Amino acid sequence: MDLSELSPAYVRSIAPYQPGKPISELARELGLDERKIIKLASNENPRGVGPRTRAAIEAAFGEIARYPDGNGYDLKLALSKRYGVDLSQIVLGNGSNDVLELVALAFLGPGLSSVYSQHAFAVYPLATQARGARAIVVPAREFGHDVEAMAGAITHDTRVVWIANPNNPTGTLVASERLEAFVRRVPERVLIVIDEAYNEYLHANLRSPTVAWLKRHPNLVITRTFSKAYGLAGLRVGYALAHPSVADLMNRVRQPFNVNGVALAAAVAALNDMEFVARSYADNLQGMRQVEEGARALGLEWIPSYGNFITIRVGRAAEIYKRLLKRGVIVRPVGGGYQLPEHLRVTIGTAEENERFLAALAASLRE
Ligand code: PMP
Repeated sequence: MDLSELSPAYVRSIAPYQPGKPISELARELGLDERKIIKLASNENPRGVGPRTRAAIEAAFGEIARYPDGNGYDLKLALSKRYGVDLSQIVLGNGSNDVLELVALAFLGPGLSSVYSQHAFAVYPLATQARGARAIVVPAREFGHDVEAMAGAITHDTRVVWIANPNNPTGTLVASERLEAFVRRVPERVLIVIDEAYNEYLHANLRSPTVAWLKRHPNLVITRTFSKAYGLAGLRVGYALAHPSVADLMNRVRQPFNVNGVALAAAVAALNDMEFVARSYADNLQGMRQVEEGARALGLEWIPSYGNFITIRVGRAAEIYKRLLKRGVIVRPVGGGYQLPEHLRVTIGTAEENERFLAALAASLRE
């Protein structure tokens, strides 16, 4: 008997998420020294963890024999003060990936559909498909979300529209006015998920006031993460801000202890360390210029990015990716599901890492 047949066809047809290659895996495969490998493949923060957050993590270790606060009260309180929302509007997740899944779990199922853009973040198709819902994929415009076409693609059975702003892997941004027009146009019976994983990397003038929109648009779900500018990707903490009724449904389908205690304590400390986030922002801006200049010097094109990564057109990307691996540099291929077979996505690293990447890229293109 083929045991896979026990699973619904829509689960069997899921293509697994392809994460960035771990440093330890490349070291094993190519017999390289781990210390000589750089990973610019998962949009992590090259600054690491700030000292205040590190201290909070160490203090939280003493409590790991106990279950965490399943309600995440301290973190919710900190978020509610920061963003002026009620505690009942917050959903915490094991990374923002988790809260995206909770949206799908609570609002999608067979006979329903979700709308997302071509080249959009891979979790939207995964979460949609895992629930047996139908995906409506709208062609991108200049690599970015064509929000007007996305609004037009909504049908009677659509329950969720996913917008990554900025988007990964393209780094494209839908400007505030255009996004607001889209939000106004989408019927209230359809949830609009605005995934702002890279929000802290935007200049304040470029951020959409999405939290303020929540008051007028109860169908809005804003998702954010501590994995990027806050430097906590390995601990897995993210959150959603939504109308209390929407948040309530998401909370009903989550695991009771979906965010661990160390992560909760770290997130509170990280949220309050404004200086760390400001430095991460400034470093990223400088690193972005460095990588853009390097790409320009190599005669390459790239998609202008608003995130902490940049997607560069290198031609035969699968081959260049392998050549970079041989040189101990891990980036992210974006062929396959992302449909960008000529591009590679690279995370902005430290100035040294960026330099090493550019040198390895130059050598890989010449090889
Ligand atoms: N949204 C976007 C657009 C992302 O790029 C990512 C990370 N790759 C996530 C959500 C999820 O990140 P996390 O689960 O670490 O919060």
